[in-house]
Amino acid sequence: MAALPDFDDHEQVVFCSEESAGLRAVIALHDTRLGPAIGGCRMWAYADETAAVVDALRLSRAMTYKAAMAGLDLGGGKSVIMGNPRRAKTPELLQAMGRAVNRLCGRYITSEDVGTSVADMSEIRKATRYVVGLSETEGGSGDPSATTAEGTVIGIRAAVGHAFATTDLRDARIAVQGLGDVGWHVADSLARQGAELIVSDTIPERIERAVVEFRASVAEPGRIYDEPMDVFVPCALGGIIDDSTVNRLKARVIAGAANNQCARDCHAQALQDRGILFAPDYIINAAGLIRVDSERRGFDPEWVEQKVRSIGKTLKQVFLAAEQWNVSTLEAAQRLALKRLTSHK
Ligand code: NAD
Repeated sequence: MAALPDFDDHEQVVFCSEESAGLRAVIALHDTRLGPAIGGCRMWAYADETAAVVDALRLSRAMTYKAAMAGLDLGGGKSVIMGNPRRAKTPELLQAMGRAVNRLCGRYITSEDVGTSVADMSEIRKATRYVVGLSETEGGSGDPSATTAEGTVIGIRAAVGHAFATTDLRDARIAVQGLGDVGWHVADSLARQGAELIVSDTIPERIERAVVEFRASVAEPGRIYDEPMDVFVPCALGGIIDDSTVNRLKARVIAGAANNQCARDCHAQALQDRGILFAPDYIINAAGLIRVDSERRGFDPEWVEQKVRSIGKTLKQVFLAAEQWNVSTLEAAQRLALKRLTSHK
């Protein structure tokens, strides 16, 4: 196996297989100092085992920082099932995954992710109780997307407030990339607050609906980075801030829900150098995690709301720390997360 550059601080990495069910999976526990490691179960047709392990390592570390900065008593973990979810996902495979999760005796808690769904979590639950993100009919908190969007809008307002000294979004030019489960709710809220929207998506019907409902203007998916805008809100894919886009963006603020927006950490520094305020994705999009975490004690909407509201305060703390330490906001967030981890008794 090739060198694993991300493998330097993980507590435990488990390879799981159950041949009769077609299961080949990896569970990575990055850090459990604050509590059990939580993180979605991704199913993806990885090119090889190394790609699967690298993904699990990278994503589980991000979950540690996300939980720490959201003020949750949870650690970071992630599981990846190797296989094409459209062809290889069966009830037997999901139950086998549940058995693999169960063998960790609660040190890892799983939930839905790319390639898995709320319904898949019900199947996993047949073999383990260490699963959240269940449907409301099963006593879970249901689809977290609307809550994620709510937290994202709180974060956008905090970032705009820091960059422009006003949280008034009236007539602000805001570009929303991706009008899916989260992006649609975000765009809806921004439009209601009077923002002038530019939208892009690869699904034409979503664009057409946004033009009618939000009076949005449209950017081709590859051209959105070149639009004049005040705020860029990525709600589609990760890795979109890279060598080819980082110098094209004209926004003063980047604040959106997509995971891992910067292809590499150096891109966060490049944004900083260009005077663009970047809201670290794992802080601004933590509301979904907050919602599913509340399932562990019985879903409590008031607790969720109060925690989600604190996303704005956490971001302001990160922005100020980045200025004080003269580092990127991503670096400041990581330092603050590590501080919480190391000061935890
Ligand atoms: P989704 O799949 O429902 O929506 C993604 C949207 O992006 C789709 O409409 C898709 O057509 C569009 N899209 C794909 N490629 C595009 C491109 N090149 N340009 C423009 N649009 C494109 O996903 P979601 O649940 O809305 O999540 C959006 C992002 O937020 C993801 O990165 C996800 O990891 C992250 N996130 C989601 C949640 C949640 O609660 N759903 C929580 C935390 C983070």
